[in-house]
Amino acid sequence: ARRKLSSLRKGVAKTRDGTPIELVANIELPKDVEDVKRSGAMGVGLFRSEFLFLGRDTLPSEDEQFEAYRTVAEALKGQPVTVRTMDLGADKNPKWLNHGVADNPALGLTGIRLCLAEPLMFRAQLRALLRASAYGQIRILFPMVNCLPELRQSLAQLALAREELAAENVPMAPKVEVGAMIEIPSAALVVGSFVRHVDFLSIGTNDLIQYTLAIDRNDDAVSHLYDPVHPAVLKLIGHTIKTANKANIPVSVCGEMAGDPKLTRMLLGIGLRRFSMHPANILAVKQQVLATHLDEVSPLAARMLRTEDPDRIADLLNQLNALPG
Ligand code: PEP
Ligand code: MG
Repeated sequence: ARRKLSSLRKGVAKTRDGTPIELVANIELPKDVEDVKRSGAMGVGLFRSEFLFLGRDTLPSEDEQFEAYRTVAEALKGQPVTVRTMDLGADKNPKWLNHGVADNPALGLTGIRLCLAEPLMFRAQLRALLRASAYGQIRILFPMVNCLPELRQSLAQLALAREELAAENVPMAPKVEVGAMIEIPSAALVVGSFVRHVDFLSIGTNDLIQYTLAIDRNDDAVSHLYDPVHPAVLKLIGHTIKTANKANIPVSVCGEMAGDPKLTRMLLGIGLRRFSMHPANILAVKQQVLATHLDEVSPLAARMLRTEDPDRIADLLNQLNALPG
């Protein structure tokens, strides 16, 4: 089976009926690009840039960040490199960030909230990203966006960074695609207001499940209740995909769900065409894509979105995965 999987590496992922499916990788540091290349992924769908900021005593400079983003962009030239702006706070608190310990960090100053509270730090990262855009296909992704004003403020910071660099005659790509993560239930519910302002969306199911179900994603005491196919989670994912598809805005899933081959057919069936995952999962998911006929899975997946009965959902999921390849 291992040899069969590795022979799948080359070639585009297409469903049985010929629909191309984009499979891209999640990375944490520039050194991970070697795994991306080996995996057969078509680029990076999520570069968790906060890892550049962790495990050190000082904030990395704009130049240092620029070098890191440029390295990845050049290594994957011709392929998209989606860099998420620093998603700190909650469980990731570097020493140099002096925001104290909140009682409820998952609901505190995290992700884009922290970036907007520290505009100079944020703009240094945006400048580094725009500078790197001259060397490859950099895309910018904002984490933990909760409402339209946050998205507008983030875009305004990006516009400001671009103006500063233009005034300094620094080379940049003329157009850098910008996206928002959908990982808070509020964002999923108002995603229709986001689509006019972004070039793409990415669903962060790890946090979307946590915040929808009020289950700490890292707490073993409640991990049996952490359910990716809870009907409420499926409704939010389904609504986001449907809204994005209708608006012609590319949408991906970049949480763990995207790398779980048991969920590939379901996600394809509800209209997902882009998956971003740990490089190690690419081939197993690709194998599922190649064995899936969209006409067969779509009606079953649509039924999964309509029911609120967890047993029925489990049954439909089994039916989906039992369909012949
Ligand atoms: C997510 O929340 O699903 C996600 C991809 O981001 P992270 O796991 O880094 O929070
Ligand atoms: Mg997240």
